[in-house]
Formats: sequence, C-alpha cells, structure tokens
Amino acid sequence: MDIEGGCYCGAVRYKATGEPLFSGQCHCRECQYISGGQPNIIIGMPATGFSYTKGAAKQHQRKDLPNPVTREFCAECGTHIMTKSPGLPHAVLIKVGTFDQPSLYTGPMMVIYTVDKQPFHHIPEGVPTFERVPG
Ligand SMILES: [Zn+2]
Ligand SMILES: [Zn+2]
Repeated sequence: MDIEGGCYCGAVRYKATGEPLFSGQCHCRECQYISGGQPNIIIGMPATGFSYTKGAAKQHQRKDLPNPVTREFCAECGTHIMTKSPGLPHAVLIKVGTFDQPSLYTGPMMVIYTVDKQPFHHIPEGVPTFERVPG
C-alpha cells in the first residue's frame, strides 16, 4: 500500500510505502489531547518506507515519562502527523486524518488503552480490546 498525506496547511508532506503492519484505535489520555477528545486512529507502516517529501516535521517527547513516544508534527499549523514508539522501533504510527485518502483506513485490528476510555467513546464490535497494550 502506498499512503500519501500531509498536514493541514500543506507545509509538511510524506509518503509511506510497504505492507501495513497493523491498524489501531488508541484511547489513551495522551491521544485524547492530540485528537481533540476522541481516540486516535492510526495505521502502523514500516519505518523504512516512510519519508517526508516536503518540509520537515518537528519532534516532541515528554520529559516526565520513562519511555516516551516521539510525536512528529507540523510546526506551522500544529497537525500531528505520526508517532514513533520505543516499543515498536520498526514502525511509524501514522494518523489516519493526515492521509490524502482517509478511506484507505477500514477500521482497527485492535483497540488499546481502554483503561482511559471515556463514556462517549465508541469501540467497534468484534475487535480485540486491551486495557493497555497487548503482550
Ligand atoms: Zn502544516
Ligand atoms: Zn494513545
């Protein structure tokens, strides 16, 4: 699958190629900040197939966590584009909302961090759920 996308203002563009590793829906409190309140939906793509084709993303890591993820975003418009997790060094977790064609996403393979789920969040039926992460 080839995925092209970018931020809201167009300053940062990317391309991701390769077999998708997984798709997920994350209810963690951090993702609620990023999404606006709902869970975050992402597709995990191979890190080797991911590159920026325009502009450069800014990186952010929380300093108060022992194993923080790295979130990359457009410094102009603030759109969060993707996340790198220390537990998944070979993957980039790309936010579906930044795809040129968000319809490439057909639903999550798993739902994670239900420990932080809010009453107004929706979990699709028949999908494995995890209080935190599988494993
Ligand atoms: Zn932007
Ligand atoms: Zn999350």
